[in-house]
Amino acid sequence: MTEHNHSDICKECGGYCCTQGGSLATKLEVDRVIEAGYPNKFIEITENCYVTDFGEDLICPYLKESTCEIYPVRPLLCRKYPIFSTDGEEHYLVHCPLTQYLSKDDFAQCIKAALEIPEELYTSVQRFMAPYGSRIDERMHKFKMERIELE
Ligand code: SF4
Ligand code: SF4
Repeated sequence: MTEHNHSDICKECGGYCCTQGGSLATKLEVDRVIEAGYPNKFIEITENCYVTDFGEDLICPYLKESTCEIYPVRPLLCRKYPIFSTDGEEHYLVHCPLTQYLSKDDFAQCIKAALEIPEELYTSVQRFMAPYGSRIDERMHKFKMERIELE
């Protein structure tokens, strides 16, 4: 799976995963985006938890013409997709248009990214995200989600 093919498929999809409340990032990840010369479109929730300033439409502010403008330095939360969650043993996959083109190695990389996300990111942002929860859930359910085996 090349990055070129990957971006073509995502472009055709319209960046749907980026319209579900944007992304979360640690301070280090935000600094990486700024150091790479991109504008800071994150809101600080705690000193090590940031969320992209998605506004009422729930669309990530870094999504431009169906493409991520910070793709090379996007946070781990974006890198793990279409893996929805994993505890290291059980992996849940979102069946978006990209899924069928990914190899086992691709999935393994997504799982690795998912496992590197500090748990504090999810807990710190809970209260902030609560008012958007049902709308985000609605959008997430566009694609089927199921457990996958990587053996
Ligand atoms: S990762 Fe999947 S949902 Fe997200 S833009 Fe690509 S094809 Fe669409
Ligand atoms: S940072 Fe990029 S990949 Fe992540 S949600 Fe925003 S537009 Fe999508």
